Amino acid sequence: QGYYTRGGGIGESGDFVTSPEISQIFGELIGIWCISEWIATGKPKAFQLVELGPGRGTLTEDILRVFNQLASLLSKCDVSIHLVEVSPKLSEIQALMLTGGKVQSNPEDKSAYMKVVSKTGVPIFWYRDIQDVPPGYSFYLAHEFFDALPIHKFQRTEKGWREVLVDIDPEVPDQLRFVLSPSSTPATENFIQPEETRDHVEVCPDAGVIIQRLACRIEKDGGAALVADYGHDGTKTDTFRGFRNHKLHDVLRAPGTADLTADVDFSYLRKMTQGRTVTLGPIKQREFLKNMGIDLRLQVLLQNSDDTAIREQLLHSYDMLMNPKKMGDCFNFFALLPHHRLAHPDKKQKPESKSTLPPVAGFGELLLK
Ligand code: SAH
Repeated sequence: QGYYTRGGGIGESGDFVTSPEISQIFGELIGIWCISEWIATGKPKAFQLVELGPGRGTLTEDILRVFNQLASLLSKCDVSIHLVEVSPKLSEIQALMLTGGKVQSNPEDKSAYMKVVSKTGVPIFWYRDIQDVPPGYSFYLAHEFFDALPIHKFQRTEKGWREVLVDIDPEVPDQLRFVLSPSSTPATENFIQPEETRDHVEVCPDAGVIIQRLACRIEKDGGAALVADYGHDGTKTDTFRGFRNHKLHDVLRAPGTADLTADVDFSYLRKMTQGRTVTLGPIKQREFLKNMGIDLRLQVLLQNSDDTAIREQLLHSYDMLMNPKKMGDCFNFFALLPHHRLAHPDKKQKPESKSTLPPVAGFGELLLK
């Protein structure tokens, strides 16, 4: 009965629209980000691109186009795609998008529940859990993934922290309501940080577990994770909301028919890496995309098209992604990288000698925390 299990309403005709669906440039720049990190780490012989919650598959599709354009650069590199998706409906849509229609699933493979080859000849595997993805040097992408995971909500009261729970309204038939737990709960005991100063807090332990796994994998096998989502750095309180037909929707009404979402707490994600990796950001989407060269790419696409409708569409979608009042300010980019990727100049070297490691694309001046 779940919202995503039944297909999820991504796209203009659905409940919400996401950046990869708005403009091809978005996925292209993320493809370039991966290649840039691959080059910066000495072009390892193989890499896996792992996407968590790929939706309709558009981001991976745009990235694969970039990899194909750069085929000569990647010719000696063994590239594979690994998609972590729980929705049977969406995984079908992803397979259709990425193969152009020729799907043959692979039930013999025990870890992956589906396997296909992309239009450009790259193998693609599907899993339900990040733990099933084979180990190895990987780029992990999570675009509008963490906001979709379930949260716990807590309220500070005179008697201490209480959990916000969902109850059946005794007065109105078929109606749900929020209530406060009469006493503390296992979640209030475990998920509230002792130094918490807010009165209302949302915690997503599932996100914490997944970030921990990503951090362990990156520490061990190298690579990077790029998380893009709307969110805050441990400052916001009540952000849980629903979307249906692109409009706000009461989260307790008609469960399973609306997109439920809560802002991602990047400070919590940072904490959950437990120092296993370096974290960069969060930085605003418009800054990340600008640093990645969105203006140049837009100019090239505009120059390549005489069609007024296409040119207008390109400008409109650029505005959606970059305008601070649209998606430019509220979406953030956050990255995990192995410590050695940003190692400071060797202490034995003279202080004036600079590190030879290239900067991490997109993050401009390093926002090291
Ligand atoms: N990244 C896409 C889709 C975002 S919607 C985009 O930006 O367009 C969230 C995605 O996460 C959907 O594909 C949904 O099916 C998937 N998802 C939700 N919960 C999940 C979970 N626990 N494990 C894996 N995938 C999940």
